Amino acid sequence: MNLLPFDSLPPYKPRQFVPEGLKFDEWAEIAPLFDRLETRVAECKSARDLEGWLLDWSELSAALDEEAAKRYIAMTCHTDNPDAEKAYLHFVEKIDPQLKPRQFKLAQLYVAQPLREELPQERFGVFDRDTKMHVELFRPENVPLETEEAKLSQQYQKLSGSLTVQFRGEEKTLVQMGRYLEEPDRSLRHEAWELVANRRLQEREKFEDTFDQLVQLRQQIAKNAGFENYRDYAFRKMGRFDYTPEDCVKFHDAVEAEIVPVVRELQARRRQQLQVEPLRPWDLSVDPLNRPPLRPFEQVEDMVSKTQEVFSNLDGELADGFQQMQTTRLLDLANRKGKAPGGYQSTLAEARMPFIFMNAVGLQRDVETILHEAGHAFHALATQEEDLYSYRSAPIEFCEVASMSMELLGNEFLERFYSTREANRARRTHLEGVVNVFPWIATVDAFQHWVYTHPSHTRQERTAAWNGLMKRFGGDVDWSGYEAVLENLWHRQLHIFIHAFYYIEYGIAQLGALQVWANSKRNKSKALNDYKSALALGGSRALPELFAAAGCRFEFSRKTMAPLVRLVREEFASLNGESDCAG
Ligand SMILES: [Zn+2]
Repeated sequence: MNLLPFDSLPPYKPRQFVPEGLKFDEWAEIAPLFDRLETRVAECKSARDLEGWLLDWSELSAALDEEAAKRYIAMTCHTDNPDAEKAYLHFVEKIDPQLKPRQFKLAQLYVAQPLREELPQERFGVFDRDTKMHVELFRPENVPLETEEAKLSQQYQKLSGSLTVQFRGEEKTLVQMGRYLEEPDRSLRHEAWELVANRRLQEREKFEDTFDQLVQLRQQIAKNAGFENYRDYAFRKMGRFDYTPEDCVKFHDAVEAEIVPVVRELQARRRQQLQVEPLRPWDLSVDPLNRPPLRPFEQVEDMVSKTQEVFSNLDGELADGFQQMQTTRLLDLANRKGKAPGGYQSTLAEARMPFIFMNAVGLQRDVETILHEAGHAFHALATQEEDLYSYRSAPIEFCEVASMSMELLGNEFLERFYSTREANRARRTHLEGVVNVFPWIATVDAFQHWVYTHPSHTRQERTAAWNGLMKRFGGDVDWSGYEAVLENLWHRQLHIFIHAFYYIEYGIAQLGALQVWANSKRNKSKALNDYKSALALGGSRALPELFAAAGCRFEFSRKTMAPLVRLVREEFASLNGESDCAG
């Protein structure tokens, strides 16, 4: 029985190396392919042989990737189907753990093969650089430490996920409590917010203990790999070849100088509209004019056809891509029973086709999500002709340019869903979200820079460092009476615990997306063409080149940020008035 929303798709190019009909259920069937690749790499006589070997390795990686993706898709589309779950878990538990060391072994053999020096640098430079780094950073003594790190991360997730509160006689998870922050009734918001904040505060010692252990472990991991501190190790490990910790410091400074003033203005406006003085932490998510939520569509088919129209207005080629996804049923968008929550874009690596999963219910958030995920899907479609598997995806700093640009570009045509007044309201809310996230990104990033360059800090010093950042980036929100909550606010940011340093990527990408949008205001067709040609490069070029191809600067200082903030201010000014009227 096919549990996938789409029929099986043929490989984009016929297989040359992986046998037809290979069962991905048995490691014994997969292992010989790795054996063959291991033997063959040593037998390469020329750079050409090595290139052929790389393509066979790519084909195998893509086939395995697609198999894992299909099992994941089937499971998330049918959470109530035990076979789907079993098939997915089988792959995760039985195949994946075998796969990782074999893939690493191939990377080692590649790096040890002297012929790699003869590969054309222009074509293989990025692949070579990334593979070499991956191999060189490996330390066998870090393997148990990383297992320990993963256990602590899981402990954090388990603790955060298990927290509930009793709210008006009902047990609620903290995620479920989020919606009460959008309630017009201020005392209800306050009550809900306080309940959640206090619940987290009860666990502060556990969060602090877990984090202390993580910092110690990470410091040791960095030392073992020959680095002075974990920050420098993480930058290498994450493949950040094209920007430095100093560039991130410039980003923090630019956010403070350029964005925080805008945030304060938005907060002043909110204060005035809500008629509250001062603004409190539970006043930040509610619609400031108490309007009911926007209703962009009733049926999901409606959302799809209107989104299709948005893309037709934007660019014929992108519109064709989305149409092709519809025709091949590579969209599963409606919320229904038995579906996992959330939304994602996944790529079928062999068919070289994207798939989008969502739980649309008829809110503006759904329109933002479909535009965002479609941006990722366009990225996958744009790289179809690329035969090197790892080049069919770009670094996250640029992947999110693809998706976030599409939110901004698509927003220009929101009248497909709304009256002009409603469309402007949606645009304003979206843009406020874009602006408001920058200071939080800077805070989370600067905090981690401090933590890992002061590895022997005390908890008191850590708290003081955090409080300093809240003063710098926190805006005009009155936390009095809740100082302890403010002090421990970082406990709720999963990335700090689980994906150290991984967060500024979203800020970097948003800077790129804002530049694409700014370009489109000047010259729409050129901006779209640049966007598409940058997407088509996949991961075959370094970040500065990908940004340049998209018509963007890869630079995070005030120089880049100031003109974007000017554009955002102009946009807010033009949205004023029209979107202010209630109703
Ligand atoms: Zn994304």
